[in-house]
Amino acid sequence: MLRALRSGLQALGHVPNGRDGRGWNNQKERFTMTQSTRDALNRIFVRELTEGLSLTAEVSLCVFMFPGYPLQLKVILNRQDGTPGGDAFAVNRNRSIMNATSADVVRLLNAVAIQPCSRCSAPAFDPATIETNRGGLCESCFLQDLSQRLDAEMEQKRRQIARRDRQMKSRGMKYRIAAWIRRGECDYDKEEWYAASAPSRKSTAARVRREGSTLVDFEVFKL
Ligand SMILES: [Zn+2]
Repeated sequence: MLRALRSGLQALGHVPNGRDGRGWNNQKERFTMTQSTRDALNRIFVRELTEGLSLTAEVSLCVFMFPGYPLQLKVILNRQDGTPGGDAFAVNRNRSIMNATSADVVRLLNAVAIQPCSRCSAPAFDPATIETNRGGLCESCFLQDLSQRLDAEMEQKRRQIARRDRQMKSRGMKYRIAAWIRRGECDYDKEEWYAASAPSRKSTAARVRREGSTLVDFEVFKL
């Protein structure tokens, strides 16, 4: 199935990735993106490598949404046996939706190199050629390390929060609020604070807005 899909993709050079373009029209007042610009970039790009490996790439959604956003590709490493190869981001900061062409995308994709994992020698992104936090490890070694690290970090974080909750409770606070906010274009963050009375969505949104951000969602924990 994968092989058939891949050879189909190869024959075409690309396939539409299913974005239907709805919503782009809403952006018209901010900048003009012609149909041909969008069609040229809104595809899956495929690069065949040796030994059954391939890279597939698509332009990040933020590039289509914001005219100043640098040209960024999400690149996925596909392995013949179906083992996940992971993904990474290739960026050209001199290009945006305003001046990028499909040739720029192909050039970015062609610059990505795959090298043996520094631990187990499975295929891995060469960190010198693409933005990745894998540090030269293959996806499986990376995930193994990550899961161990996350377990330790989560436990440490849980203890920190419990300690802080106790402190704040002793100072008269009754609630901890965790808010997911958007600061600028595609810049999301989480913020936490305490309150003596139960917050509403309206008051939470107002507080976030005063800091120049937009409230995406929030959770309230009773201390
Ligand atoms: Zn490995």
